[in-house]
Order: sequence, then structure tokens, then C-alpha cells
Amino acid sequence: SARPLAGRVAVVTGASSGIGEATAEHLAELGASVAVLARRAERLDDLVARIEKNGGQALALAVDVTDVAAVRAAAGRVADELGGADLLFNNAGVMLPAPIEELATDQWQRQIDLNVTGLMNVIGALTPQLVAAGERGVADLINTSSIAAQNIFPTFAVYSATKAYVTHLSRHLRTELGPKNVRVSAIEPGIVGTELQSHVTDEGAQAWLEGSRDTMEWLTSEDVAQTIGFIASLPPRVNLQQVTIMPTGQP
Ligand code: NDP
Repeated sequence: SARPLAGRVAVVTGASSGIGEATAEHLAELGASVAVLARRAERLDDLVARIEKNGGQALALAVDVTDVAAVRAAAGRVADELGGADLLFNNAGVMLPAPIEELATDQWQRQIDLNVTGLMNVIGALTPQLVAAGERGVADLINTSSIAAQNIFPTFAVYSATKAYVTHLSRHLRTELGPKNVRVSAIEPGIVGTELQSHVTDEGAQAWLEGSRDTMEWLTSEDVAQTIGFIASLPPRVNLQQVTIMPTGQP
């Protein structure tokens, strides 16, 4: 059907820009009700208005995922207002490459706090809803990792390690939750043009990223969104454990 996710309830983190925003819109197009979560409330309100204008249902949750109490409260709203989540796209993240010798300890900590601890806060708050949904049918937990979890890039060590955590965590959780009808996937994109690159302060990494635009066409957020829609629309017996999606020209 054109609306394979009709009746499903999705939560998308990092939904105020880039991959999360595009995925929230696409999941709504596929028929899901979508709770959109990030810190920038205005961006979320605009997104909700756009989804509703297209005939969808959406709920804005202006939350910092590093705040565990706020995440738990948001999960409560998803249960109360949308009837509980059966699809979690756990996607908020930040990438701050820098040579390790610069000792950019605050940037190390920001990446760990968001990409690891924030991701876990969301899993902790929403797993009960996913397991409950699994008892009725099938549920999805899709975590955003990166090609950096697999390939080696100088100056990306801390970011890559947070994403290796995401991929490895996902594989373990799949064995634990799969028997409860909760599919677990890690998506590992190569370079996608989003706001992610705009937070990079290291000049060497900035130059490397910008230079890569001359040698390849970057992926778009919509490319990743389509893939998330595909993963969630598969028959309940099929779990794509790990999906690497690369720009064709990225080595
Ligand atoms: P963006 O910077 O466009 O999106 C990041 C999202 O995370 C924003 O919506 C941001 O919203 C949200 N966010 C940041 N901090 C917090 C927080 N503390 N609490 C809640 N939400 C937060 O980048 P992308 O769309 O590219 O990134 C999405 C994911 O994709 C990340 O995990 C990234 O690591 C991963 N990825 C990206 C690739 C790329 O090349 N772009 C490649 C591989 C993986 P707000 O600021 O409003 O809170």
C-alpha cells in the first residue's frame, strides 16, 4: 500500500533539521503519526504544521535528550497523546572532529553526552513502549550510526568511537529485543549534506569536508529518509540489522 505505516506511532529525535526532519516528514507521508523531538521548538512547530497541512498527525516535543527527566516526560506524552510508540528513530547526534592532541575535551564530552548518553536516555524511556507494541505486532528501534563506525578517518576518533558504540549496541539489542518482535537496526550513512558539518570548528576537518564536495555528490537527507521508511515497512519477519548508505563517489 502507499501508506504502509498507517496506524503506527513514530518518535524521531533530532527532528529539527537534516536527516531527522526529512525522516519525520517521510514517515508521516507513509501514514505514521510522528512525535518530533529536538531542542529548537520553533523548528519543530514549523515541521508539525507542515505535516498537518499534508494531512498527517504530529506532536512537537522540545526536549534536550541529555536531560533524562525531560526525556522520560516526553515519552509519557507520547503514550498519553499518541497511544505509545512502535517506531523509534533515535537519530540526534553531533560530529566535532579535531586532532586528538588539541585536547578539545569539551567537544569530546559533548559528543559522548549526546551520541552515547542521550541515545541511551531515549532508549531507556521508550523501550517499554516498543516492547508493548511488539506484543501486539511489530516495533522498530532504528539508531543512527555512521560509516565512521566502520571506516577510519584521522581526527574523527571520538566521533567514530561514539558511532561504533551505536552500531555495536544495536547488534546486541537486536538479539535481546528481536524475540519480543522489536526489530533493531543501525543505519550507517556516509556524507549527507545537513547542518552537521556547520558545527565543525577544526579547520583541517572543515577543509577536508568542503573539498569532498568537489569529488562526489553528497547524499541528501531525503535519501536516508527513504531508507528508514523502507526498513520500517518490511514484513514483520524481516529485520535489516545494519544498513550502510554511501554517496556513490565516496571512497
Ligand atoms: P543535523 O545537525 O542537521 O541534525 C542534528 C539534530 O540533532 C538536530 O535536529 C538537532 O536539533 C538535534 N540535537 C542536537 N543536540 C540535541 C540535544 N541535546 N537534544 C535533542 N536533540 C538534539 O545533522 P544530521 O541530520 O546530519 O544528523 C543526524 C544524525 O546523523 C546524527 O546522529 C549524525 O551523527 C548522523 N550522521 C550524519 C551524517 C552526515 O554526513 N550528515 C553521516 C553519518 C551519520 P536541535 O539543535 O534543535 O536540538
